[in-house]
Amino acid sequence: MNGTVFADAHLHPTEAGFSERYPDIDRAGILFGCTARTSDWDAMAKCVAPNAVRFYGVHPWYSEEWDCGSAERLARILRDDPEAHVGEIGLDSKHGEISGQRSAFAEQLDIASEFGRITNVHMIGCEKDILESLRAHAGGCRAIILHSFSSESYVKPFSEIGCMFSVNPRVLARSDARLMRLMSSIPEDRLLLETDAPYVPKEFAGMRDFTDRLARRIGTTGEELMSLALDNARRIADV
Ligand SMILES: [Zn+2]
Repeated sequence: MNGTVFADAHLHPTEAGFSERYPDIDRAGILFGCTARTSDWDAMAKCVAPNAVRFYGVHPWYSEEWDCGSAERLARILRDDPEAHVGEIGLDSKHGEISGQRSAFAEQLDIASEFGRITNVHMIGCEKDILESLRAHAGGCRAIILHSFSSESYVKPFSEIGCMFSVNPRVLARSDARLMRLMSSIPEDRLLLETDAPYVPKEFAGMRDFTDRLARRIGTTGEELMSLALDNARRIADV
């Protein structure tokens, strides 16, 4: 198992301490590095984490920071950097009114779609709204990653529009039955794994420990899960 590399489909490598509680980060073959605010974008452009794929976005918690200037800047970044993508963007019904988050989300999706890039999406409790926005605005995206995915009853409609489902260590808090229900709902070619580092649960001890624990509870191996998720990440990022 020593030589195994993995893909982390969602983390924040420009935020302080992102690798402190992530002992095997040096084994990551691909890191999808997200940003939450425009003030993180310069640091992302300079991100030297090896194998980092750069995502630029305004998180729904900071949607009031999104304006014409940020839209122009995001478009310029994507034009100048063909390897750049869009995220973390989305909607969060547990954090203020989603009516105020909608236009920032839609406009960022439009830009990702116009440039044919990947988008990394935050979705808390508003699956129907997210589906509607993705259907209307994400048609040209190269891929759509639903980060920290936990809404198994929506796998079908999200699959139909080509979404990828990224599983976070927080799923280990589920009962065996609920964990199995979630994992068996996700098609193999759509599975991704992530940490959201530095925002990891306190019992997190690395990607390999997470996948081993997850795999044991659903009757597979950590190796198998990491390899599936790595292949899927490589396919969508084309690296
Ligand atoms: Zn995040």
